[in-house]
Amino acid sequence: MPLAHLRQPLAAYIHVPFCAHRCGYCDFTLVARRDDLIDGYLQALAIELGTLGEPRPVETLFFGGGTPTHLDANRLERLLKLVRRWFVPTGDFEFSVEANPAGLGDDKIEVLADHGVNRISLGVQSFDSAILQQLERDHDQPTVADVVTRLKRRFTNLSLDLIFGVPGQTLSLWRETLAQALALQPQHLSTYGLTFEKGTAFWSRRRKGTLAQVPDDLEYAMYAATMDNLAAAGFEQYELSNFARPGRACRHNEAYWAGVPYYGFGPGAARYLNGRRETNHRSVTTWLSRVREGRSPVGDSEQLSPEERAREALVLGLRRTAGIDRAAFQTATGFEVAALTAGRIARYVTDGLVKETDTALRLTREGRFVADSVIVDLL
Ligand code: SF4
Repeated sequence: MPLAHLRQPLAAYIHVPFCAHRCGYCDFTLVARRDDLIDGYLQALAIELGTLGEPRPVETLFFGGGTPTHLDANRLERLLKLVRRWFVPTGDFEFSVEANPAGLGDDKIEVLADHGVNRISLGVQSFDSAILQQLERDHDQPTVADVVTRLKRRFTNLSLDLIFGVPGQTLSLWRETLAQALALQPQHLSTYGLTFEKGTAFWSRRRKGTLAQVPDDLEYAMYAATMDNLAAAGFEQYELSNFARPGRACRHNEAYWAGVPYYGFGPGAARYLNGRRETNHRSVTTWLSRVREGRSPVGDSEQLSPEERAREALVLGLRRTAGIDRAAFQTATGFEVAALTAGRIARYVTDGLVKETDTALRLTREGRFVADSVIVDLL
């Protein structure tokens, strides 16, 4: 088995950068109210995909955004046909598409299902109208219930995204959100704590004092409730923010966390090939013009050293509940876990944040609450 970064990529990500409106907390690569760019995007994507030279086998495909389902049914079909020409399903093929409840008509649902999509990740975020309004989302609870009912006619693998730690959200409101999500019987749930990213409207509002972040102890309590309530409902937490019914973990994301190569296309898309990490230009118009002019769309590029690769695999592995299998890690990276963590891990073990055995290393439940700081320290 070759080192992980030299394996054949079997995962591909396509970024679809269109939304009806930019939500106040969002710093993703996208344009809002620029549907005039969609045809140009499809043309440029065809050119960028053409750099593959020949169709490639993949086990997972993932359309993220933005809102891929913001495209009308005709353009969505063009996008699906285009991508399917370059990627040939192999193995137990997983094809995920991110969707938003607003505007997800049956015509789009049919197009998705008819072109091999078999997993939908729905951006629900909340069921409470005040919280949805705070997040500037343009759907409501009845719309979510209706969309889920219609999606279930064609899809048996459905994931819901939820956000906690929203200003104004109480612990009981969050518990209610979890209960309402479970009542829809999804196969997978992703739950994210709200972050205030530089450059977003939320960031400026917090600086001006017009938006207050929830206290840390409330956010911790919400994360604890998430872990407890979803476990009680039969969901396995397989990563810090991801919960699935047995056998329903998102295999595309698992490829990222395993540190294996993947393709990426579209503005802002990242790829990892032969140990080189590249990210396309985040400006949609810059990406468009570069691709059309036959120039490279790459904005950032970094060749990782063997140790950097191993360190990255270490922190990605720690995000997973199963943690790191020492023997598999050494086979995949060429480094021993102990050589990378020497002197740094002991205090986390003493503090009960990391569990270390002869065969594995993983965050404890307590460790998951402070995962980001542990991970930054180890990187
Ligand atoms: S719908 Fe999603 S991707 Fe689009 S602006 Fe809102 S948070 Fe960002």
